[in-house]
Amino acid sequence: MMDFLSQCRAVVGDAYVLDAPADMAPFLTDWRGRFTGKALAVLRPGSVEQVAALVRACAAHRVALVPQGGNTGLVLGSVPDVSGAQVVLSLARLNTIRQIDPVNRAMTVDAGCILQRIQEAAAAEGCLFPLSLAAEGSCTIGGNLSTNAGGTAVLRYGNTRELCLGLEVVTPQGEVWSGLRGLRKDNTGYDLRDLFIGAEGTLGIITGAVLKLYPQPKASITALAALPSPAHAQQLLVLMQDHCGSSLTGFELMSRFCLDLVARQFPHLPKPFAAPYAQYVLLELSSSESEAHAVGLLEHAIGAALERGVIQDAVVASSVAQSAGLWQLREHIPLAQAKAGKNIKHDISLPVSRIADFIAATGPQLEAAFPGCQLVCFGHLGDGNLHYNVAPPEGISNEDFLVNQDKVNRVVHDSVVAFGGSISAEHGIGALKRDELAHYKSPVELNMMRAIKAALDPLGIMNPGKIL
Ligand SMILES: Cc1cc2nc3c(=O)[nH]c(=O)nc-3n(C[C@H](O)[C@H](O)[C@H](O)COP(=O)(O)OP(=O)(O)OC[C@H]3O[C@@H](n4cnc5c(N)ncnc54)[C@H](O)[C@@H]3O)c2cc1C
Repeated sequence: MMDFLSQCRAVVGDAYVLDAPADMAPFLTDWRGRFTGKALAVLRPGSVEQVAALVRACAAHRVALVPQGGNTGLVLGSVPDVSGAQVVLSLARLNTIRQIDPVNRAMTVDAGCILQRIQEAAAAEGCLFPLSLAAEGSCTIGGNLSTNAGGTAVLRYGNTRELCLGLEVVTPQGEVWSGLRGLRKDNTGYDLRDLFIGAEGTLGIITGAVLKLYPQPKASITALAALPSPAHAQQLLVLMQDHCGSSLTGFELMSRFCLDLVARQFPHLPKPFAAPYAQYVLLELSSSESEAHAVGLLEHAIGAALERGVIQDAVVASSVAQSAGLWQLREHIPLAQAKAGKNIKHDISLPVSRIADFIAATGPQLEAAFPGCQLVCFGHLGDGNLHYNVAPPEGISNEDFLVNQDKVNRVVHDSVVAFGGSISAEHGIGALKRDELAHYKSPVELNMMRAIKAALDPLGIMNPGKIL
């Protein structure tokens, strides 16, 4: 293998081929700390040409590679297996904002740009890049595109797929496909861009992207509503959409258990209500007119919801700081879970109209099979997306409970499918859910996916063992 590593060093320089265990360590364990792989080396190219040259070297030596952005993915897609034969190819050094075109409302960026930096660069030009998620300070746009990340603004702006106009990709043969077109209409055959989005690095390496920008809203107002049940949350969503139309930009469901967990792990965060309620919805309204317009819309809609008994109480943030405080409650749920211990995560999507029925049906099934298990149920209800996580009963260790992972998955995912849903809404498949995908996808779908993989990556060097 020295030949291969020497070739890599010749491409990127000695400093950017890491093969000492201590140097490689941060790239080998997933964000949740559930899995640690081994690697032959970690490669850190600094340009698109270097990425292409490294992929050519990998192809020539049949070395499999694992693309990695911020390594915040939740399905073990960005870490190598335990063979020690794969290389991690980190895109972190490709971090230039190449161009911002406020008239075309588009920006062209390197794949390794941190999401938060992209948001800030757009804002500096008076524009909005709406993708937003709790990992935005660490995740990269290449990772967001490769997982087709969702986040908190999907209701209004769509997933990352909807926010992308064009891509630049290094193919598994080490060629550069430059599809960096800032076009909103382009019907010239198969949509290659859409093939690479959500492919989790199994078809090629995204090195650059053209992203859609939007006008900055003049004001955003946040409120937290308290409700008796998820069915009430569904009613609230319809009511809010009827009253506020596309001004409704966020709609997040959180159970009491979730906010209690946040309060325990992060006691400094706000506690908006004196008394507890069964469910909470975090609402965000944005206005292109003014703050007064947003407040007026929100107060009117909340008044109607209280009057009809859809909600029991609500607090409306009266400042940007208070808004941020309410969002922090939502964003700290995954962090609070991580601090509290390990749990069995499900990132599922359902028709919005079936969410309450799914929650009502699945909880008792889990309780019957795993008495005392604790449900951390929250998510982007406006998008039909729940994070439905199952934590050990009090007094049972993580390790003792995690052995049930396959059985827990079967209960939850069977129920998801029975309610017409999907076993992965926004986190992807990676290595973690690969067997579940094989279990639930139809042979027709799996065969088409395998045919695409074999056509684009005949040597099978692109993130093998992920998705398929
Ligand atoms: C606290 C927290 C909150 C989160 N919240 C959300 C959320 O609300 N919504 C949501 O959708 N996700 C969420 N996620 C998970 C989400 O998938 C990631 O945060 C993000 O999209 C991954 O970006 P990354 O740069 O870290 O990618 P990585 O984790 O490095 O990689 C993810 C996958 O993409 C591949 N990949 C990475 N870069 C490239 C590239 N340039 N070319 C080809 N393949 C590549 C990797 O091989 C891997 O398969 C959250 C994660 C955390 C830790």
